[in-house]
Amino acid sequence: MAQMSLITGNPSKYIQGVGAVKEIGKYTSVLGNKALVTGGRTALSVSQEAIGESFRAHKVEYVVERFRGESTRTEIDRLVNIGRENKVNVVIGVGGGKALDAAKVVSFYLETPLALVPTIAATDAACSAQAPIYTDEHAFEKLIIRPKNPDLVLVSTDIIAKAPVRFLVAGMGDAICTKFEAEACRKSSIINFHGGSAGESAFYLARWCTDTVLEYGVEAKKSAEQGVVDEVLEKVVEACVYASSVSFENCGLSLAHGYLIGFTGLKETQQYLHGEIVGFSTLAHIVLEEHPKEVMDKVFRFCYSVGLPVRLADIGLKDASRELLMKAIEDSRSKIEWLHNEPFPVTSEMLYEALITADRMGSELINRER
Ligand SMILES: [Zn+2]
Repeated sequence: MAQMSLITGNPSKYIQGVGAVKEIGKYTSVLGNKALVTGGRTALSVSQEAIGESFRAHKVEYVVERFRGESTRTEIDRLVNIGRENKVNVVIGVGGGKALDAAKVVSFYLETPLALVPTIAATDAACSAQAPIYTDEHAFEKLIIRPKNPDLVLVSTDIIAKAPVRFLVAGMGDAICTKFEAEACRKSSIINFHGGSAGESAFYLARWCTDTVLEYGVEAKKSAEQGVVDEVLEKVVEACVYASSVSFENCGLSLAHGYLIGFTGLKETQQYLHGEIVGFSTLAHIVLEEHPKEVMDKVFRFCYSVGLPVRLADIGLKDASRELLMKAIEDSRSKIEWLHNEPFPVTSEMLYEALITADRMGSELINRER
């Protein structure tokens, strides 16, 4: 059999900087001349004026339709129909992970190019080709994989800096897992999301992603709290929005996102963000893999210092029964193979024990720091 090829995917263009959104007309006009712009209420309120102005300057017609908050089959069908009725030939998603995911799926069904404008840095969604669809009850249903990564990702760092800092912190939670999941996938020789193997540069970027957040995350949070865009914030936004997203697709996902899939289906976790849950799952991930003490200390301390969850209670699972946690683990196993992307067999019992140990270590850290 021929050796598996190295395959790397990227958005066609990634643009990040203060006021970047003002350039959207210029970069969209080469993709299409009739756009469906969709995003949440807040996301549209902070960007719609600049988008409209830029579209008018570059002769891109557009319709705006508010995204209703969940990337469910019902919502996707509604947006696809609006796109069809208006004969759009490019889709623009504006907002956080769910809005960007919905725009990806809508463009998949409409078979149009896709431009994404993240207005928060909360997840690893912006640069990837894939997006989940959820049931009307918020449980994970399936992944839709577009044949291409987004054609354009445009990040206005000034908008990111003005958003509530909780989102940036969640983005850090979603980014710290990157190198650990990538290394697990490398050791278990998985096929990446593009159907090939990851190259050395992909693993380098995954390491850069996690290490950058661990090193500069605390400082970046301070900048964001003051609404200041500086070099440190730009670097951490690049790690959370670009590197985290590209790396998971090129290198693969394992335990941290595997846990997430199960947790997503529990009503107890509904008020927590993707990146907050992944942040805690990362702790269980490194516990299960038995990383050296100094690595564990660094990651636990980092999570604690930026306000990411370090206990089950911090993601709504205080006093969660063994049955409930096992249910989440089994649910994930039945839906996705990521929990098996380790170079050794992983049992449900091991996954459960790692959650409990991470929770205990997090509680001990809090008690020590008090
Ligand atoms: Zn993620």
